Parts: sequence; structure tokens; C-alpha cells
Amino acid sequence: MIDLRSDTVTKPTPEMLNAITHAKLGDDVMRDDPTVLRLEEVTAEILGKEAAIYMPSGSMTNQIAVRLHCQPGAEFICETTCHVYNMEQGAFSQLSGVVARPIEAEQGVWRLEQLQSLIRPCDDHQVRTRLLTMENTHNRAGGRVVPYDRVAEICAWAHDSGLVTHLDGARLFNAVVATGIAADQWASHFDTVSVCFSKGLGAPVGSALAGPATLIREAQRHRKLFGGSMRQAGIIAAGALHALENHIDRLAEDHRHARILGEAVNRCEGLSLPGESVDTNIVIFTVDEQLGTAQQVVQRLAEQGVAVLAVAPQLIRAVTHLGITEQDVRQVARAIQEIGSQIAGA
Ligand SMILES: *Cc1c(COP(=O)(O)O)cnc(C)c1O
Repeated sequence: MIDLRSDTVTKPTPEMLNAITHAKLGDDVMRDDPTVLRLEEVTAEILGKEAAIYMPSGSMTNQIAVRLHCQPGAEFICETTCHVYNMEQGAFSQLSGVVARPIEAEQGVWRLEQLQSLIRPCDDHQVRTRLLTMENTHNRAGGRVVPYDRVAEICAWAHDSGLVTHLDGARLFNAVVATGIAADQWASHFDTVSVCFSKGLGAPVGSALAGPATLIREAQRHRKLFGGSMRQAGIIAAGALHALENHIDRLAEDHRHARILGEAVNRCEGLSLPGESVDTNIVIFTVDEQLGTAQQVVQRLAEQGVAVLAVAPQLIRAVTHLGITEQDVRQVARAIQEIGSQIAGA
């Protein structure tokens, strides 16, 4: 099976397994694991932040960020289709008593004017607007890079307005490679940033939250509370460290592969890219009703050895990653073409 369901499906490379085998370990709850500490140091450095902390998942880094920034009864502004709001069980409300203010964006990209009137006045009837979160690249917008100037403009406005900012950078390194803009430059606009090692970077487990040292120290307490403190975590942190040091530049290859898929989709009658272009490693495409439902097209692709995900009734997502070769991508392009020819022949 050519597995394009997500960039989370990657297996460790032989070199990564070697790094894992030789990792120096300790008890990370006692902050004794040298590999975890090294990963945190390198992550903080790459993101230009004082400190970073390793956690089991990106959901945890995001939710702990919201919790660090917001008191119960506070609200945060987020994009309607973002991961923090849709894919983490509303943990901000379940675990932290925080309210979300989702604001829809065209292809994941807000205009500043949409946000300017949202900050609530100081009034006993109302929640307090405290935090703005952004996602980059934007998963549901098809791996869209939210343009740098827009990020800078919105975060400057947020800070001027007394808000704090958090970046869900699960795929920040895809934005880095796609634009040539360094991770620390993107991160400089945010108080806290979370990054995933287990997406395109190809590590088996984990994410990190980066920010000011005092906040990250506090995040360590919340990590314990959420059950995310691990003992000899260097065994997985070694994979993450290897990924960070070796797998960033190669994301360009995933982007090239995704563009090939995007072109195949565009050529196929009955399939189309809502955003018209492919920025990074995610290809989200619409299935015209004359081809059936997304689920039916997923089934037909599965019969040809290709696994993709239906993410809405007429929407499919395919994601490239380090387990996918150019030959695989060419084969998927042929399978897509085959599907289009079914209408053409009808
Ligand atoms: C994958 C992902 C996360 C974190 O997911 P986990 O499975 O909890 O690690 C966060 N944000 C975005 C945009 C993601 O794609």
C-alpha cells in the first residue's frame, strides 16, 4: 500500500534507529535524561526561544500553551478549521475552562480587518479576550503557508492590543522549507510555538513547546498534571533529535512530490484543488458528485494500492512524507488519472 493518509505514518529510518539505540538515557521526570535535555536545547535554539519542553503529542503542547496563557473564563481567537479547535476534543474547555472564538479564514488566511473588532471590552458580562492562535502550515487548508507578512501584521496587531500569541507549528518546518524564511524568524512573532517531530520530520513520537524560560518551566508542571511526563524518554527523543538535525531540508522532496499529485488532481475530470495550488506536502481535493462521494473514491484508490483519507463528504486528503518515493507518486498519479477516465468514459 502507498500510504498517503498522513505524514504521521512514517517509520524510523535505519540511521534514526541507530541514534535511538545509542541514546544516553536518564529519568526525565527528575530532568536527568541527557537526550531529552539536548533535544529541548536544540529545539529552543532553532526557534530562537529561551527554552523548550518535550511532550508526547502536539495536542498536549497546544493545549498546555492555551492553559499557560489563559485563566478559566478567558477566550482565545482561532481559525475555524484549525487543529486546536477541531481535533483536540475541545480540551481547552474540558481541561482548562477556556472558551474558543473561532473566526473563519479564506484558505486558512485571515485578513486583519476580520479580527480588529473582536477584542472584548472590560465588562463584567463578558469573557476576557486573551490569546490569538495561528496554525502554519495550515493543515485543513491543504498545507497552506500563511504568508509571512500576514503573520507579522496580525501578531503585531495582537500584541499592540494586549493579546498573547501561540503558533501551532506542527508543520512549521514545511513553511520554512517552502519559503526559505528561517524558523526563528517565523517564531519571533509568537510568545509560544509548538512543533511536531512526528509529522513530516519522521520521528516516531513527540512534540515540543518553546517560549520564555519562566513559561516553559510552568509548562513542565502542566505536563505532569496532564500525564505527559515520561521517564527514560530519551529513547524517543533521540528519534526526534535525529529528525530535527537531518530531516528538515529533505521536506523539499515531499513538497515536490505533492505538487506532482496536485497536477494529477488538476488534470483529472471530477477532482479539483480548492486552493488551486499546493504549497507544501498536503494535497486536499474536492470530489465532484458525478464521481460519487469522497469515501467511494477512497475505496477505488485503495483497490489500486493507494491509501488516502476522506476528511469531509466530498473532500480527500493525501500527504507526502519520507516513506514516499517519486516512483510511488507517479503510480498514484496514474491511479488518479484512471479515476477521471471513469467519468470521461461514462
Ligand atoms: C498533527 C497536528 C497536531 C498534533 O497532533 P498530535 O497527534 O496530538 O501530535 C497539531 N496541530 C496540527 C495542525 C496537526 O496537524
